[in-house]
Order: sequence, then C-alpha cells, then structure tokens
Amino acid sequence: MTELERTHDRAPVPASWDYAPAPEARDLVQLRERYGHFVGGEWLEPRETYTTIDPSSEEPLAEVGQATSEEVDLAVGAARDAFENGWSGLAPAERAKYLYRIARILQERSREFAVLESLNGGKPIRESRDVDLPLSAAHFFYYAGWADKLEYAFPNRKPRPVGVAGQIVPWNFPLLMLSWKIAPALATGNTVVLKPAETTPLSALLFADVLRQAELPPGVVNILTGDGRTGGALVKHPGVDKIAFTGSTEVGKSIQRELAGTGKRLTLELGGKAANIIFDDAALDQAVEGIVNGIYFNQGHVCCAGSRLLVQESIYEPLIGKLKRRLTTLRVGDPLDKNTDVGAINSQQQLDKIKELVASGEEEGAEIYQPPCRLPEKGYWFAPTVFTNVAQSYRIAQEEIFGPVLSVLTFRTPDEAVEKANNTPFGLSAGVWTEKGSRILAMAQQLRAGVIWANTFNRFDPASPFGGYKESGFGREGGRHGLEPYLDFE
Ligand code: NAD
Ligand code: MN
Repeated sequence: MTELERTHDRAPVPASWDYAPAPEARDLVQLRERYGHFVGGEWLEPRETYTTIDPSSEEPLAEVGQATSEEVDLAVGAARDAFENGWSGLAPAERAKYLYRIARILQERSREFAVLESLNGGKPIRESRDVDLPLSAAHFFYYAGWADKLEYAFPNRKPRPVGVAGQIVPWNFPLLMLSWKIAPALATGNTVVLKPAETTPLSALLFADVLRQAELPPGVVNILTGDGRTGGALVKHPGVDKIAFTGSTEVGKSIQRELAGTGKRLTLELGGKAANIIFDDAALDQAVEGIVNGIYFNQGHVCCAGSRLLVQESIYEPLIGKLKRRLTTLRVGDPLDKNTDVGAINSQQQLDKIKELVASGEEEGAEIYQPPCRLPEKGYWFAPTVFTNVAQSYRIAQEEIFGPVLSVLTFRTPDEAVEKANNTPFGLSAGVWTEKGSRILAMAQQLRAGVIWANTFNRFDPASPFGGYKESGFGREGGRHGLEPYLDFE
C-alpha cells in the first residue's frame, strides 16, 4: 500500500472568518443627471431644483425639482382632468388591469428598484430586496383584486371615488409608502398627486417610468418632488379632495389644523413608541431575534418600531445578556453589501436628532451599551444602541427617536406591563412574547395600539389594516379598511 503524501499537517483554515464584501451591482440603476416633475404623463421642467444624495457616502446622485405652488396647481389640474375625463368612469375591472400591470412591472424591475432605494435612502439591500419591493408589488396585486369588488366590500352603500387625492410620504420606506397610498386610491377610482420626501425622491421618479410602461392614462398619477413647502402647498390647494399623510406627529397636527373646516378628507399615519413585551415564559432566543428585528430593522427608521422593550423581571439578566451578544453580530455598513444588517442613517438632520436624544438618555441616568463596530468615515452612521436603567419619565422612553436605539424597562405583572405599555401619547403598534395563547388575547385587548404582534414583530401584509390610536394618527391603510378613506358613500 502506498502511503498518502501529506503536504499540509493541518487542513487550510482561513486566518479570519470575516465576511468578504458582497456588493450588489450598482449599475443596475441608470440615473439621469436631472429630474423634473411627472405631471399629466409628461416630464415638466422644474423651476427650482436641489441635489439628492447617497446618505452612506454623501455623494450627489441627481438634481431634482423643488415644486412651487404653480407646479402644484398644474399637477392638481392634471389629476382633476384625468378624474373627470375617463378614470372615475372606467369599468372597475379595467382599473384593476392597470394595477395588475404595475404590480407585475415592479416585480420584473425589483432589483433595479431595490438598489435605487438603498442608494438614496441608506437601507440595507437585503431589506429593500426582501421587504420593500415584494411588499410594494403585493400591495398593488392586493388592491387590484378589490377594484371590481367594492360593492361586495361595502354592500348597499354605493361606494364612489372621492376625487383628487394629495398624498405625502416619508423617507423611511419611500416606495412602500408610495404603494400603500397609490394602490388603494387607484383601485377605488381616484386620481393622485403624490409627493415623496425630500431626501428620498428617486424611487418615486423611477415609478413614474413604471406608470408609462403600464400605459396608465396621463394625469391619473402625478409626482411632484420637493420639501415641506411643496407638501404645504398641496395640502392647501382647493382642488384636492383628500389628503393622506405619513410622517411626523408635529407636521400631522399642523395639517389637521390647516384642514379643519374645509371639508377635505384626511388620514394621518404618524409616529410611534411601541412596547415590545417579553414575558418570562417566552422562547428567549426567538424573542431576541424579534427584539433585534423590532428596533434595528431599517436603522430603527420605522414608525411601528419596537423601541421600548418591556422585560419581565425574572428573565431580565439572561435576556439582556443574549441581546447584547446578538448585537455584536450585527454588521453595520455599506447599504449595497448583501451582508449588511444595519445601513446608513437617512440624513444629517435625522442623525443629529438621534444623537441629541441619546445624549439626553445618558444625562438622565440611563446606562448605554453599543457593540464594538467600526463606522465608515463618510456618510451618516449610528451604532446599534441599547439603554438599560431607563425610567418611564426619561425622554428616551417617551419620545420617538426613529433610530437604532432601544430603551429597556422592566415589569413584574401583566397589569404593570399594560400600564407601562400604554403610558405614551402614541398608539401605533405593540408586541407580546409568551407561550400562552390566552395571555396574548388578554394583552391584545388591553393594549391601545393599532397593530399587535404576537411572538413576532414588524410583520406586514397588504390584507392587514395598519394605523394608529391617539397621536399615532387615524385612518387605516391596508386591507378592506384601507379602501374606505378613498370612498364616499350614499
Ligand atoms: P416630516 O413629517 O417633516 O416629513 C414627512 C413628509 O411630510 C415629507 O414628505 C415632508 O416633505 C412632508 N412635509 C414636511 N412638512 C410639511 C408640511 N408643513 N406640510 C405638508 N407636508 C410636509 O418628517 P421628518 O422631518 O422627515 O422627520 C422628523 C421625525 O418625524 C422623525 O424623526 C420621526 O420621528 C418622524 N417620522 C415618522 C414617520 C412615520 O413613518 N410615521 C416618517 C418620517 C418621520
Ligand atoms: Mn420635518
């Protein structure tokens, strides 16, 4: 028998187990140098412009328009024309066909959209690819199905469209929030003027291309870019019948004051300070995954984020130990890297707000933990953060941070958990982790929140209505409920 020649005395083992970079191809996206407003199916040359950037590098991406009140007027006029001259009278099954087409095109072009969403917004490509894009397409598919069934959704109530909808969306889920707004509006026979957030206009502008591909009649959807001044002009415009707003509670309140007495319809989806409640019988490792998904998903730029962790005292030590260990495995960095878990903060302004609130937490006496991680030099970054020793009165337990920052509180009894969870001016979402089904139901009945997740968090489905109580706003998006704000009844 010949002896095997041994060239190595040990198997070749890599010296380091770090992930290699796995960047998604940036050239899937072809950007223009300059974009106008999409009005009446045409590109309108903007009167004023500004530069939109990549928040992970601060590199400029494109020039986009800052719509003035004259441009708002043109867009509302185009939407009114389209409403009166065809769209509102179209057979519902025909409307549905356009929605199905849009959904299909979004699926076909999903990689391109995912890259663009991560480039302009800073979110990890894994999330834009696996969450934002599939859910956006799903919303169009879902509402396409309702378009010709409104009589069944609202029997004997003779539903008819409201007219021209002005829609204002935020920067945390630019394309998904656009889809949440446009899909139900079109399914119910309305026309739209939509304004994306000033820091993330590009996916809405690419969506205009999808509308042309789908051959949607001109003027049915118009897209204006610009900041709060453009939003303000849209809210004030007398030709708008309904405003749908998602964004900060402060701006939401000002819109509500502005519209009082005008007869315009309004829905508001505002901030949150959700409690994620962990009982001592919960599966701890799964709960840790849910906590991480609840607050570090999309850098915590999530209105329904589980930003207040309520832990039953008896499991406090093991749970926090596991959570801190899990945080050391989160990869913070390049949004276009497929291994990235936490991407860039959306803007300098948002980074300043997060830093200010985190500083207040330290001053008020909370204990801060951040895993060791190296943040890129350029761009806007914030390490995943956990605060323990938090009192209910601290600002970090009361105010929406909208960043990757978790505040941990404890409780002893279910009643105490409910009391603490409800001790907030918000009421958008909550999470309950327990093995007991009866406890889930009992908690869900007492928590004042629009969405309650049991043994999961941040799970979305177009068939499920989403929206708030109290200062989190009113009106629902998604599900059959999501049709109602866009309909008038006999
Ligand atoms: P914002 O409310 O100012 O912006 C949201 C949208 O409203 C944007 O499109 C913006 O251009 C527009 N807007 C601003 N002022 C307006 C006005 N006066 N009239 C009409 N439209 C107007 O939010 P922001 O300043 O980008 O973020 C501030 C805070 O708001 C965040 O830190 C976060 O707490 C919260 N926020 C919540 C959500 C959410 O999903 N609920 C989204 C974004 C921001
Ligand atoms: Mn603002």
